Amino acid sequence: MPGFKPKSKVMPTKPAQTLPEPLAMFEQEIEVVERVVKSEIELARISRKDTSRPCLFTNADGKEQVLGWKVVTGLWARRERIAKAIGMDRTKLTSTLLEAMRHPGTLARAKKAPFMKNSIRNVDLTQLPIPKFFKKDGGRYFTAAMVVAEMDGVRNVSYHRLMVTGKDRMSIRIVPRHLYSMFRKAKGDLKVAIILTLNPAVMLSGAMSVAYGMDELTVASAILKAGRGKGLAIVRLPNGISVPTDCQIVMEARITKEEADEGPFVDITGTYDPVRKQPVVKVDKIWHVDGPVLYGISPGAHDHYLMMGMPREPIILDSVQKVVPRVGGVRLTEGGCCWLHGVVSIEQQKDGDAKNAMMAAFGAHPSMKRVVIVDPDIDIYDDRQVEWALATRFQGDRDMLVIHGARGSTLDPSSDGDKTTKVGMDATKPVGNATDFERVTE
Ligand code: MN
Repeated sequence: MPGFKPKSKVMPTKPAQTLPEPLAMFEQEIEVVERVVKSEIELARISRKDTSRPCLFTNADGKEQVLGWKVVTGLWARRERIAKAIGMDRTKLTSTLLEAMRHPGTLARAKKAPFMKNSIRNVDLTQLPIPKFFKKDGGRYFTAAMVVAEMDGVRNVSYHRLMVTGKDRMSIRIVPRHLYSMFRKAKGDLKVAIILTLNPAVMLSGAMSVAYGMDELTVASAILKAGRGKGLAIVRLPNGISVPTDCQIVMEARITKEEADEGPFVDITGTYDPVRKQPVVKVDKIWHVDGPVLYGISPGAHDHYLMMGMPREPIILDSVQKVVPRVGGVRLTEGGCCWLHGVVSIEQQKDGDAKNAMMAAFGAHPSMKRVVIVDPDIDIYDDRQVEWALATRFQGDRDMLVIHGARGSTLDPSSDGDKTTKVGMDATKPVGNATDFERVTE
């Protein structure tokens, strides 16, 4: 037939145009790697060249043609990107997180979600481009996965690294917190949903360590409501667990009473965490959007820092606010792995407020071993300004608080087991002597 053109079955499109949210809003910043790269070691090595930049691998293990699965690293490696995805300025993040923890939001119920479009019943994790990050790692790892569990009307959402050990098997690292107590209470297997690649509000809420019984999804909903003006919607899976509708990948799974090796695995400080016996997870079904993007946080990289460390900031803020009326901000610094070192800005009413702020900060985040207290004229997000405050407003004999033998982080190789020396540095100017310490700007 002249002039007739058969409809093409395959619509060739550029990966950037088909990116599902929340990746689409960072199209300009994402470095796209289109060539075939090995998900074992090579992918992580490329992503580590600049861990603050998102890298999208459209053809990891040559799987793009087969499954349409892509891998992204470094997505939430900058505060600005996290703030943008939530819909706010980065300086508002800490106080918004705290407010959401104090006043959780509500959840809308949806009947369907985009990820329900595709499902895999014959699960074979070994065919998916799940990265192995470092040579001595115990295996391929899901590093940005969150586990949703429900028991007796309580929902819990938390982060767990998952090491692939077989077609439908993984080892899960569970520290004794909320998921652990649900798992111990469960008579048999604990049904869970494993969720991947979604709005960072949910990821931050899952790392905030709210009290048992408080649904982390309602905290995420309040964060989103404050930012984009619309809360979170959830959808119930066939296994009975409800998950956010905006996930790109969801696994229906069970945590079993069987145990297997987990690790070694590189932790936030960039050093190895040893092998332990941990529970085995069995995956029953995988749901995913069209062309799903698997988010992998490179261990010890900037997104690991922010996703693990930043959610501690509102807890520190809450604690310091109880002893000092005006707190400007709290930041765990990237240089200190967003875990061991912090900066707090306060408005001193009386000399000595800074010392109380230090003690409150240490109490709120036991892993912190150094905190610098600055005045409100210092931008806590600018390391040079913080050092300037130390250079011009701090004396080691007068302004330093040293606490020996406190409990700290076992992740710090310089600590004595879990005992550490905490150092508080008061870089605030003396109350009543503003002029000598003022930074001249005009
Ligand atoms: Mn919890």
